[in-house]
Amino acid sequence: MAKCVEIVLPVQCVGAYQDVNLNRIIPLAVHGDDAEAHRRRSFSICTFGSLLVKGSFWDTKILSFCTDVSQCSSETTHQLELWLTWSLLELQLGEFLDVDPWGQPYPPFLKGRSGKICGEWKAVLVAHKGDERYMQKSYRPLSSWVSDNVCLVCAASQTQEDLLYTQFGPSALHRSSMTSTKKFIQDISQVQTFTALPGWHIFCVQFDLLHVCDLAIIPECSASALIELCAAGVFGTGANDERLRRANVLFTRACKLARVRNRGQMFSMKQLFPAGPNSYPTLVQKNFNGSEAVVMAKWLETICLKVAEDNPQDAHAGLRAAIFVNLVAMRQCMSPANNPGRHVTLLPANVERLRRACYLFKAAHNSLALEAVQQEKLFWKVRPKYHKLDHIVFDQSQYLSPVHASCYNDEDGMGKIKNLARITNPRKLGLTVLLRWTAYVCVRWVRMATE
Ligand SMILES: [Zn+2]
Repeated sequence: MAKCVEIVLPVQCVGAYQDVNLNRIIPLAVHGDDAEAHRRRSFSICTFGSLLVKGSFWDTKILSFCTDVSQCSSETTHQLELWLTWSLLELQLGEFLDVDPWGQPYPPFLKGRSGKICGEWKAVLVAHKGDERYMQKSYRPLSSWVSDNVCLVCAASQTQEDLLYTQFGPSALHRSSMTSTKKFIQDISQVQTFTALPGWHIFCVQFDLLHVCDLAIIPECSASALIELCAAGVFGTGANDERLRRANVLFTRACKLARVRNRGQMFSMKQLFPAGPNSYPTLVQKNFNGSEAVVMAKWLETICLKVAEDNPQDAHAGLRAAIFVNLVAMRQCMSPANNPGRHVTLLPANVERLRRACYLFKAAHNSLALEAVQQEKLFWKVRPKYHKLDHIVFDQSQYLSPVHASCYNDEDGMGKIKNLARITNPRKLGLTVLLRWTAYVCVRWVRMATE
């Protein structure tokens, strides 16, 4: 557990934790998401685990609850999260509580569920993460990505000129409007669950690299680039679908070289414009995961750089190459291989490089987006989700590696729990899934211990 000392606490927290033995504190991350299954069923799944461990989902995460979304109201989620927060409070204290979440005597305490939970060990919530919809469900803020104020942690706006969310970098004006912990608890969160934990800090609200970058920014930028490169004849001549088919062959080859399975559909105009021809292009999320997104950015970096080199007078080609060069550079700064000796944080030099690459990416992307608007073309879409990249890079990356803190492992686990839920009787789904998960994990751990 010597790795614990590597955790960098936000300056505001240092004083508050002076009398705590950090070598006996487990930093926890809570993750929540909805997983869609067959027949339009979807399950709401919440897990938690230590931020310090890596490995299989079964060995690193604890299932908190799994519910059938169609059978639950927002109040159900609220009640479940109240119990979860209560459990987190117990872990934070290191002792079992004698009262329930409503302050009433808790019978199991009198029956022996009392005393210390795990000796001197305690656990503290550090990160609360999930996709945008889950965070909305969990904190129920009055604003969302479609309202004027698009951000949970600052005043970035869709319409207020001085606070436009499209501004970027360390000197963007919305950066001076960061929400304080007090304001978040009093004005933004409309429920008191996680925010009721003693010591809860706005830093706990973490934006996730997987959802922001791999499942939104890279697919959307790649789709715009693919259409442009097709039109420029980079993938040969013929109908657009034929050119895209050739592009797909090249991409599949790049995936093979990177030892990543390309599970996506064949590129086609229909696939790149799922909302119809008069919409912004994107690669549909279902066919794209984190690994494929990383290969896609690298593959397009090579192609776009070659096109830019062959056309030195073409500023547009240069900016398009800059987008992928900086997306790849950002990933390299965050890669564990480039941060030797670091477990959950980045080397300071890499934090600086990451910030520079993010700034250059946003500058290039905004220029292309502006050009597209001026030419009345639907390319290089900018949307509120892109704003979150600035929070990941400029606010979170100095404390926690965005790759380590992201939801890759959690999303993998979503599929496993979803499969458990699908074969469970809907009437007793919540309890049965928890029992099956417990049984599976216990058998797995016993087997591992005896092998
Ligand atoms: Zn913001």
